Amino acid sequence: DPARMEKIVSLCKRRGFIFQAGELYGGLNGCWDYGPLGAELKRNLKEYWWRKTVQERDDVLGMDGAILTMPQVLKSSGHLDSFSDPMSDCLLSKARLRADQVPAQDGTAVYFKGAKHEATNWSVERVFAVLVAPGKDPIESHKTARKFYGDLMPDKKISPKELELIEDRREEVTGTTSFNPENGSLLTEPREFNLMFKTKMGASADDNDPSSDAYLRPETAQSIFVQYKNVLDSNRVKLPFGIAQIGKSFRNEINPRNYTFRSREFEQMEIEYFCRPEDGLRLTDEWLEARLNFYGEIGIPREKLHILDIPDGERAFYSQKTYDIEYEFPFGVQELEGVAYRTDYDLGVHQKGSGKPLEYFDEETKERLLPHVVEPSAGCDRTVLALICEAFDEEALTDEKGKDDSRTVLRFVPRMAPIKVGIFPLLKKNEEQVRISKEIQKKLQPWMNVFYDEGGAVGKRYRRQDEIGTPYCITVDFDTLGENGDENKGTVTVRHRDSMEQERLPIDALLPWLLERVR
Ligand code: ATP
Repeated sequence: DPARMEKIVSLCKRRGFIFQAGELYGGLNGCWDYGPLGAELKRNLKEYWWRKTVQERDDVLGMDGAILTMPQVLKSSGHLDSFSDPMSDCLLSKARLRADQVPAQDGTAVYFKGAKHEATNWSVERVFAVLVAPGKDPIESHKTARKFYGDLMPDKKISPKELELIEDRREEVTGTTSFNPENGSLLTEPREFNLMFKTKMGASADDNDPSSDAYLRPETAQSIFVQYKNVLDSNRVKLPFGIAQIGKSFRNEINPRNYTFRSREFEQMEIEYFCRPEDGLRLTDEWLEARLNFYGEIGIPREKLHILDIPDGERAFYSQKTYDIEYEFPFGVQELEGVAYRTDYDLGVHQKGSGKPLEYFDEETKERLLPHVVEPSAGCDRTVLALICEAFDEEALTDEKGKDDSRTVLRFVPRMAPIKVGIFPLLKKNEEQVRISKEIQKKLQPWMNVFYDEGGAVGKRYRRQDEIGTPYCITVDFDTLGENGDENKGTVTVRHRDSMEQERLPIDALLPWLLERVR
C-alpha cells in the first residue's frame, strides 16, 4: 500500500523521527539521520534487545568492536572475494541497477526522458525507452517504472504531462521493440559488484600501497569471530555461550530503496552463539523461537511475521539451516532478521587465515573441538521501520456533534514509545497547576522521557502526543488543587492513548504505576 507508506514517511519527517542525511545539501542517497524521536525509539529497541540478549541471560556476553577492519579478516571470511551483488548497467541512463531488481525482468517498464538512445537513434522531442513485457499494458508499466525510477533517481520522475504524452503515443510506445531486452539493446550482462566500502588508513597513506587499505565492516559478526578466543580466555565461559554486538555496518548497496529498509549505512544487532556440533540444529530452532518472542514483546505480532525455511541449494554453502524472519511491510513482505546455523565455517576460516588455533578445550572430557555457531542477525533500522509501520493507525472518530474528529496514532507498546508520558497543566495561566506539573516532570525525568506541554487546548495536546505514540498523558487540573473539594486533592488525570479513557491517580503513585508499564 504505497499511500500508507507515504503517510508514514511524511509523519516521520514532520514529527522528527527520520530525516534524509545531508538533506540541506540535496541528500545523501541510502543514508538516514534519526531525529529526536527516532533516536529515542531506536535506543529503546537496542536497549531492550541488549537487556533480553545479554543482561537477562547467563550464557551471552556483549562486545563492541571496531568498524574499521583489516583486509586480512575480510579475506579469510570470504567478503573480499565474494561479498557482491549482480549488477547491470542501463545504457540509456547510465544508471547501475541490481540485476535482480531490473524492472524489465519482472514485467515492468523502463522509461527515460531527455536522453538520446545511441544504438537506435530514436529521436522524438523527448526520448522514452520502454520495456514492456508481453501482455503488459505500457501505460501501467510506465506508472510502475515511474515509482521505481523515482526512488532510484528522484530527478528522473515522470511528470503528469509526460504521462499524457505517452498516453497520446500509446501505439508508438507499444511498438518500441528496439528496446526489448531480448535484442540486448538496453541492459548489459550482469556482473559482480563488491558491496564493501574501502578506505585508506594512516597519514602517509600511499594510494598504491595495499598495506594501508582498510574496510568499513559489512557486518558486525566478523569482529566477534576474531575476538572469540579473547572473550573465551578472559571470561571463563563454557560451551554453549554467545557473544552479542550492536553496531554500524556499511554496504554499498547498488539501489538503496524502500525508505530506510535498504540503506548503505545501517545498524545490526547480532549474536554468535557457539556450541557443540551436535547441538547446532536444535539451538537454531530455539533461537528462532526466542527471536519471535522478542518481536512479540516489542509490539510486532506473530501473525505479521513470516518464517522462511531456506531450502537446500539456496542457503550459503556452509549453512545447514537458515531461517529468514520476514515482516509484512506496506511495500511487501521483507526480511527483518536471519537465523543461520553456520557450522564451524567462520572459526575454521579464521583459524586457517591467521594460523592460530581457535579450538575450545573441554575441561571435563579433555577434548579439543572447533565450536559450531548459530547466528541470529537482526537489522536495527529495519526493525525500527517495522515498529513505525506496525504502530501507525488512522482512527476515524466523530465528536459529540457528529463532526469528524479523526486522529493519527502511533500505537507503540509503551516500552518502545520514545516519550513515555506527557505532562500538562490544564491552564497555562494557573501558576499552581504549572508548578505542580513541573514538579511531577522533575520527579519522573530520571526514570523516563517525559514531555511537558502547556500550549493550546488540552485536547490538542493529547492529539500531538497520540501522533508520536506517547502512551500516557497526565493533566494537573483544578481537582488536583482541591478546588472542587478534598476528595481529588493531590490527584491527577491519567489519559490512556489507545482507549482515550481517563482515570485519577494520586501524584505519589505515578512513578511506580508508570515504571510497571513502560519497562
Ligand atoms: P538482504 O537480502 O535484504 O540484502 P541480507 O540477507 O544480505 O539482506 P544479512 O547479511 O543476513 O542480510 O544481514 C542481517 C540483517 O542485517 C538483515 O536481516 C537486515 O535486517 C540487516 N541489513 C542487511 N543489509 C541491510 C541494509 N542494506 N539496510 C538495512 N539493514 C540491512
